[in-house]
Amino acid sequence: MITGKNYVGNRLAGNGTKTYTTFNPLLNIENENEFVEASTEEINEAVFLASDAYIAYNQKSGKEKAAFLNAIADNILALDDTLIQTYCSESGLPEGRAKGERGRTMGQLRAFAALLDEGSWVDATIDTAIPDRSPAPKPDLRKMLVPLGPVVVFGASNFPLAFSTAGGDTAAALAAGCPVIVKSHPMHAGTGELVASAIIKAAEATGMPNGVFSNLNSSGIEVGVQLVKHPQVKAVGFTGSIVGGRALFDLAAQRDEPIPVFAEMGSINPVIILPEALRNRAVELAKTYAGSITVGSGQFCTNPGLLLGIAGESLTQFVQNLSDEIVRIEPSCMLHPKIVGAYEKNKQTAIDQSGLVVAADYGSEVNVNYARQAVVTVEGKTFLENTKLHHEVFGPFSMVVQCKDAAELQEIINNLEGQLTGTIISDTNEIAKYPQVITALQNRVGRIIFNGVPTGVEVCPSMQHGGPYPASTDSRFTAVGTQSIKRWVRPFSFQNWPDDLLPNELKNANPLAINRSVNGKLNSDAI
Ligand code: NAP
Repeated sequence: MITGKNYVGNRLAGNGTKTYTTFNPLLNIENENEFVEASTEEINEAVFLASDAYIAYNQKSGKEKAAFLNAIADNILALDDTLIQTYCSESGLPEGRAKGERGRTMGQLRAFAALLDEGSWVDATIDTAIPDRSPAPKPDLRKMLVPLGPVVVFGASNFPLAFSTAGGDTAAALAAGCPVIVKSHPMHAGTGELVASAIIKAAEATGMPNGVFSNLNSSGIEVGVQLVKHPQVKAVGFTGSIVGGRALFDLAAQRDEPIPVFAEMGSINPVIILPEALRNRAVELAKTYAGSITVGSGQFCTNPGLLLGIAGESLTQFVQNLSDEIVRIEPSCMLHPKIVGAYEKNKQTAIDQSGLVVAADYGSEVNVNYARQAVVTVEGKTFLENTKLHHEVFGPFSMVVQCKDAAELQEIINNLEGQLTGTIISDTNEIAKYPQVITALQNRVGRIIFNGVPTGVEVCPSMQHGGPYPASTDSRFTAVGTQSIKRWVRPFSFQNWPDDLLPNELKNANPLAINRSVNGKLNSDAI
């Protein structure tokens, strides 16, 4: 049942005065439930509980934490149709997407559970003492990863489950040993509360300390600002706009004790279509890309917002084919009137730029809150000179840049902001003729794709979801896959520490039988 209250640790609380509702964009009406924004007292209580829970939570073994994560996944599934219907009513997204995203969310939780169960993720590194080393004895040093402390997670608007309350950031932080306070996304507060109830129930059933998780409602920036400024918060996870992510990053840097903000923000995901591929596959590529640009109303951080090719007959034909294909696709509902409003405004700002040609714009009447997809085209020189054209238009929009030659193509890539992904469309062996283009692209992105589309992010340990700024605030880390746990930990060394006082991961006997580096050799042996 949705109460509209906050979870301050295990307690439902709602003594704030500001209330709000969520919105059903498909029906264009407000949803029934009223949500109470967290008060300052509730925010402080959630952080203090998290701070206390940090100690007790870290006395739990990896296997106990794994049981907690698996119980969250089970409880999310048990929410069944109530969760799916709430998700759909708060996002306008179809049931199939809701179920798919629920599966992904549960899969992420279970993947982290498996990681903890196995245990080697802590990167245990041991260098044993050499007491008779000359001229000075070598001490015994043992290092492993330890949790940072309470983490604040900002849920994303475009993934009500997989990047929100129990999404990737929360799962990774809980797995790392960090209590989590979620700043619930106001567009899907009901979905958030249901998932929060699943987490709290799991925490209670598996004996986790009160405060290991809190879920705070808010419909404005104040709750998030107070959380990021709170001295006992030690890190922040965010998915959303560059403006929002940057504001929180700056706020965290201005604290007396600056803390890391891992923000995954905008990206236009350049796609380079090489000439021979364009000549031989213009029709097929147009179909594929019309699909990728419009999937999920273009509301994905990996949406292909920029297509780059070398000017000529084939590229002109491709623009025509893409335009024909894209207006054939039925428009779909966006997440919220605010998101549709931002899409139409940003699209118009792009279209108003000098030198830009609209190749296709879904001109017909669409239902309220539906997106009108569009493709525009521009010459390389104009694109290079006007950086406004480099900004993300979040929605089903893409810009085809007609470069004069390979040198201009390379210059454009070099001048792009950091991106999550870059794609090369090439015929066999064609790619070998463009080594500098490939190198330029590699320098601007976190993941490079060969002959595919950037949409669709596999969740697995080798995934890199994050790139040079502003794709993310720290390109050394990924926001997807089990390695995202590394954002919430720090390396910690014990020197000459008594064996019985060491954590199990570092003890001579290796009771957890994990893989460790011992004097430079990887093994799972006892010392
Ligand atoms: P957003 O505006 O970045 O907001 C995300 C969250 O951050 C919200 O919970 C918001 O709180 C909070 N926030 C924003 N600015 C803040 C600030 N200055 N201080 C403190 N907290 C702040 O994103 P959104 O509302 O989810 O979507 C809006 C736009 O973001 C979209 O139109 C799109 O352009 C972009 N977006 C991009 C991606 C991507 O993956 N590239 C994903 C999602 C959204 P409140 O809502 O409570 O104010």
